[in-house]
Amino acid sequence: MPNPAASLSPSPAPPTSSPSTSSDRRRSCPTCSGPVDPDPRFTAWCPACEWNLVPAEEAAEDCAKSAKDLARERAAAERTERLFEEVAAGRTDITRRDWLAASALALPVHAVTLAVAGAAGWLLVTGNTPLRCLGALLLAVAFLLRPRLGRVPSGTCVLARSEAPALYGLADRVAAELGAPPVGVIRVTEDFNASMAVVGLRRRSVLTVGLPLWEALDDQQRIALLGHEFAHHVNGDNRRGLWLGSAMRALAHWYELARPSERPRGGYGVIALLSLIGDYLSNAFLHLVSQLPYRAYLLLDRLTARAGQQAEYRADELGARVGSTEAARGAMGAMLLGSAVGTVTMRLRAEIQSRPRAGRREAAPGPDVSALWPQLREHLAAIPPLERERLLRRSRRYGHAVDASHPPTHLRLALLARRAPLPAAITCSPNEAAAIAAELAPHRTRIARTLLAG
Ligand SMILES: [Zn+2]
Ligand SMILES: [Zn+2]
Repeated sequence: MPNPAASLSPSPAPPTSSPSTSSDRRRSCPTCSGPVDPDPRFTAWCPACEWNLVPAEEAAEDCAKSAKDLARERAAAERTERLFEEVAAGRTDITRRDWLAASALALPVHAVTLAVAGAAGWLLVTGNTPLRCLGALLLAVAFLLRPRLGRVPSGTCVLARSEAPALYGLADRVAAELGAPPVGVIRVTEDFNASMAVVGLRRRSVLTVGLPLWEALDDQQRIALLGHEFAHHVNGDNRRGLWLGSAMRALAHWYELARPSERPRGGYGVIALLSLIGDYLSNAFLHLVSQLPYRAYLLLDRLTARAGQQAEYRADELGARVGSTEAARGAMGAMLLGSAVGTVTMRLRAEIQSRPRAGRREAAPGPDVSALWPQLREHLAAIPPLERERLLRRSRRYGHAVDASHPPTHLRLALLARRAPLPAAITCSPNEAAAIAAELAPHRTRIARTLLAG
């Protein structure tokens, strides 16, 4: 793994991006004359001055941004760095006020739903016929406004406890180590990610394991990943709680309900003109109405963003305690390699398509969909440390994060580098790992098919 602490030191010079053509594959950097690795499989760049750290085509996207957008991104990055320094310094109380304000803001959201439902009930019980009709209408509105609790997933992606005792067993051990409740359902998807959600009235936990990410990790890194996900139950992340989480989902839903939508217009002449005016007025009204939940959602999101990031850092520390610091850092480093899945999938798809048609005896056996996973592992193992370092530094420039709720990966790595390295609290035996691999075998085939069909 590259050393993130070293990567966080100030860059020696502003990088100059230029196209990485074959003529650039030289052995010395055009900016500082430092050595450049000429490996043609990867972007040629200079670690000394960061020449071509970001190839021209990617840098062009940055140039297209307005000065306002860039300033906003810079301010957000500064806020993120400040929070990182506070967390790294061991402050734990920095976001208590944010949580309190967010929880208070969730109150009117739930109050609106309750008030509409209460008024509907009162009219239905005490009103005359017209008022009862109004009550029924309000009940329908209350149903639409209800807080969304999420559903326990079903279908082919779900792995039942009876089908996967070894995987559930490992997950239970990780949960017990952290004092988290055991997982309700595990589902396996084609994403390069993993997540934990709590759904339904019974608040069952759903662990989502993205198989491409799982396949990219070694056994100990998988345990660290599970550690991070289960830590979400004990890291004080209230965004996923019943009160705040359902208020945020309700606001997002209200916005979707009120948002003006494009409708096809019909008619000619006066009718077309009237329909145009009607659309304009109704859209203007809906736009105004939808701004309220939209603004409230943005405010809640802003209030919980810092607190959520602090909770993520805490989950990383707990993940390191469960799977070891080294494994947690390895898992985070792997998060930067997501594009490898696309590369390997495209290559294998081309190979399969160019294979001679089955049925002809002389045809040599071609690659199978299940070849995706060994090829992915082979591809990842062949990525040299210099390319991993480039991806890490690139992630620092772009603030790459697994998703909007997580801090940038380079800061998560830097936090673990500042803490004393921890040994693994949980390990898994070769037999246990083999049993888990066997349980996931049908999903490996299913997901390889999905990815290769895409
Ligand atoms: Zn250079
Ligand atoms: Zn997380």
